[in-house]
Amino acid sequence: MDPFWHRRDLRVTDNVGLSAAADRGPVVPCFVLDDAVLEHAGPPRVRYLLASLAELRDAYRERGSDLIVGRGDPAEILPRLADAVDADRVVWNRGYSGLARERDARVEESLAAGDGAAAAAPEAIDVETYHDAVLHDPDSIRTNKGDPYSVFTYYWKKWRDREKGAPETTPSEETLCDAETIADVVADVTSDLQSGDATIAAGTLPTITDLGVAEPEADPIPAGTPGARDRLESFLESDIFRYEALRDVPAASVTSELSQDLSFGTIGPREVYAATEDAMARAEAGGADGIVSDLEDADPVSSVTEFRSQLAWREFYLQVLFHNPETVSRNYKTYENSIDWREDPDALAAWKRGETGYPIVDAGMRQLRAEAFMHNRVRMIVASFLTKDLLLDWRAGYAHFREHLRDHDTANDVGGWQWAASTGTDAQPYFRIFNPMTQGERYDPDAEYITTYVPELRGVDPDPIHSWHELDPERREAVAPEYPEPIVDHAQRREEALATFEAARGEA
Ligand code: FAD
Repeated sequence: MDPFWHRRDLRVTDNVGLSAAADRGPVVPCFVLDDAVLEHAGPPRVRYLLASLAELRDAYRERGSDLIVGRGDPAEILPRLADAVDADRVVWNRGYSGLARERDARVEESLAAGDGAAAAAPEAIDVETYHDAVLHDPDSIRTNKGDPYSVFTYYWKKWRDREKGAPETTPSEETLCDAETIADVVADVTSDLQSGDATIAAGTLPTITDLGVAEPEADPIPAGTPGARDRLESFLESDIFRYEALRDVPAASVTSELSQDLSFGTIGPREVYAATEDAMARAEAGGADGIVSDLEDADPVSSVTEFRSQLAWREFYLQVLFHNPETVSRNYKTYENSIDWREDPDALAAWKRGETGYPIVDAGMRQLRAEAFMHNRVRMIVASFLTKDLLLDWRAGYAHFREHLRDHDTANDVGGWQWAASTGTDAQPYFRIFNPMTQGERYDPDAEYITTYVPELRGVDPDPIHSWHELDPERREAVAPEYPEPIVDHAQRREEALATFEAARGEA
C-alpha cells in the first residue's frame, strides 16, 4: 500500500500521479493541511479548498475508500503514514512554485531518512512524482537554443502544435485502500504522532474557523470536481464559441470561470483540453454557427483556439515562475535604476475599497470583494491604474489579490501584475498606459458591468459615467452625489508615470 499525497490536484479523475499509484494499488489517499501553506491563502481560497476536500473525500467514499486528512507539517506526517502502511514509496504530483518545491524537497528528505520509523534502523521511503497540473511540463517547451521562453507568441506556437495527452482513467474501487483499513491506519498513526502539533483523521475536515481564518465576504461557488464540471459543461454549451468576440466584455460573462478549478486541480487540464476538441469538432462541422449569428465576424473555430491560448498562457506563466522562482517578489525585467514607486496609503486604501472615482476601476475592485473574482479585462485595468496612475508598487496589488481572489495562483497572479507594471516577461511596454475612461467606454459601453457593482451610479447615463473625471463638481453632485471624485488626474499621472519609467531606464 502506497500513500498518494493530494495537493493542488483535488480530484480522482484525470489525475496522473493517482492513476500511476492505482496501477500498483491499493492506494492510501491523503491530504495535509499545512499551516505554512495556509498562511499564504486568503479566506476565499481556504473556503474553496475545504469544500473541494469534502467533495474529494466523498468521491473516495463512493468508491469504498476514504481520504486521510492530516494537519501539520507534511514532513512529519507523511513518513509516519508511509511507515504505518509499510509503503515502498509515497506518490504525488509536482508543484512548480519555489515554495512548493522547497516543501517537497524537505518532505522527500524526511522520507529518505525514514523519519517515520519507530524502529532503531529506519527504512528509507522512495518518492515518485508526476507532471499533472499542465499539458506540457515547464521544462519541455524551450527555444531552439534550449532556453525557456520569455515571449508568449513563440511559446504558444510550440505549445499549440505539441500532441496532448488524453485524460487519465479514474481508479477503480479495487485499486483503493478500503475505508476500514484506512480507519485502522489513522488510529495507528495517531498513536505515533506524539508531538501534539500534527493530527490525522479519516475524512474529518476542520471548519474554516477551526483554521483561524475569517469567513469570506463573498458568496461561495459550487466547489470540487462537480462544481468544475458544471462550469465546464455550461461554458461548452455556447460561451466557448462567443469567447473570442466577447471575452473582453465583462458584462457578457462568457469566460469559463474555471480558474480556481485549474488552480486547485478540481478538474484536470487534459479533461478541459479534450472538451475543447469536442467543441472544435462541433465548430468545424458548422454546429455552432447559429450561436454566433448575432455577432459580426465571429468565428467559432478561432474562438475555440483563442480559449486554448488562454490555457497556454497559464502554462507559459507557470514555466516563467518555475525557471525564475524569485520573480514572486522581484521584477522579472530589470531597469537600469530601480522604479521609484510611491508611498501613498490613502490612495492604496481607496483603490482597495473601490473608491477611486474611476468607475471601471471601482467596479472591478468591488466585484473582487463581492465575488472573490474579477473579470480578466478589468484585472488588467485595475492593475494598470494601481501601478501607472497611482504609481504604487505592483507587490501591494498582488498582496491584495492574493488575499481576496478565490482563484489566486502564484504564477498567474505574479504574471498578470508584472505584465501590468511593465516589469514582467512579455510585459506591457511602460509607455503604453491604459486610459481607464476609454477602457470603460470601449469594453462596457452601456456601463452595465459598472452599475452592477457600483450602486451609486445606477440610473446614471453611460456618458457622464465614462466622462466622470471631466465633469465639474456641481454636475457630479447633481448626477451621482454619493459617488467619489477622481482621486487623481489621469492625464497628469500618465506624464508622471512616463517620467518615472524613463528615470528607471536611465533616460531622465
Ligand atoms: P478564461 O478566460 O475562461 O480562461 C481559461 C483559463 O485560462 C483560466 O481559468 C486560467 O487558468 C487561464 N487564463 C486565462 N487568462 C489568463 C492569463 N491572462 N494568464 C494566465 N492564465 C490565464 N489568473 C489566475 O488563475 N489566478 C490569478 O491569481 C490571476 N491573477 C491575475 C492578476 C492580474 C493583474 C491579471 C491581469 C490577470 C490575472 N489572472 C489570474 C489571469 C486571468 O485574469 C484569469 O485567469 C481569468 O480572469 C480567470 O477567468 P476564467 O477562468 O473565466 O478565464
